[in-house]
Amino acid sequence: MINLKEIQEAKKRIKDTIHETPILQSEQLSEQIGAQIFLKSEHLQKTGSFKIRGATNRVKQAVDEGAKFITAASSGNHGQAVAYISNQLGIPATIVVPEDATKSKVRAIEQYNGTVEYCGTTSAERIPRAKELAEQHGGIFVPPYDHPHIMAGQGTVGLEILEQVKGVEVIYIPIGGGGLSSGILTAVKETNPDIKVIGVEPSIANDVYLSLKNGEITPVNGTENSIADGLRTTQPGDMTFPILQKYLDDIVLVEEEEIKWAMSFVLERMKQMIEPSSATAVAAAIKERDQIQGKKVVCVISGGNVDIATISDLLVDTKR
Ligand SMILES: *Cc1c(COP(=O)(O)O)cnc(C)c1O
Repeated sequence: MINLKEIQEAKKRIKDTIHETPILQSEQLSEQIGAQIFLKSEHLQKTGSFKIRGATNRVKQAVDEGAKFITAASSGNHGQAVAYISNQLGIPATIVVPEDATKSKVRAIEQYNGTVEYCGTTSAERIPRAKELAEQHGGIFVPPYDHPHIMAGQGTVGLEILEQVKGVEVIYIPIGGGGLSSGILTAVKETNPDIKVIGVEPSIANDVYLSLKNGEITPVNGTENSIADGLRTTQPGDMTFPILQKYLDDIVLVEEEEIKWAMSFVLERMKQMIEPSSATAVAAAIKERDQIQGKKVVCVISGGNVDIATISDLLVDTKR
């Protein structure tokens, strides 16, 4: 478990590295739903997602403790964030990516001076390799969500929401491994337990939904088929799950077509490019419009990294 104080300390530790991202509003979106909708815009964060918050909180402390080398096992937003902060701090980083990683993602890591190593196609192959490299070079392996420093860093999004949207009543958060949600839940519920916090997953990656229902961590198959690539984890973390169990008010499942519609609406009307994982939060608010009429609602827009080559496959006609 983490606590509010650790999140407040994380905020101080990372404030010179990260942006305090804006809250965006759209009359059209609010009208469409019938509630006051606020988008916490982590797609405008450094490296294009909130992952830089946890990565910075973790890597800074590791370097203070003498780490000379950093590794991670992700070609996505976490890999980019770890490469970025390591470069900022002048520490070499190796990011282990799958052999079929898209070029644009590999290029982003290389732009931050990260060394890219290819290994297998599954995280079960990548993670041991990244840990082994860390050990060989007197460094540390930075996991994507299941670590108190990562969770506390992601929780700083929650502190900002509380400051920026006074009187917020409902918050929708996309859930992958649960780092973002467990951090925000701790920040929000330890400040004001009356605020409703609702998790969002794609229907075809519903591991947290099932785990909560079963009262224990329940892995699922087929999550790789979701367009929400940040939410393809097959199960919540050992450290994040108890916090989700303790604090999460509800979980909403959204369909792939609903994710596309929400992403297209935000691009068309608000001119904001958000990634499918983030669009799930908007899709959830649309789906639950009857329950949130007239309320002050924050959707956490977790990131905006989309491979240009795939954009046309993700967009639909919003007039339907
Ligand atoms: C990683 C990620 C998530 C999920 O965060 P967890 O901490 O794994 O729950 C959601 N959206 C985006 C854009 C991400 O990169």
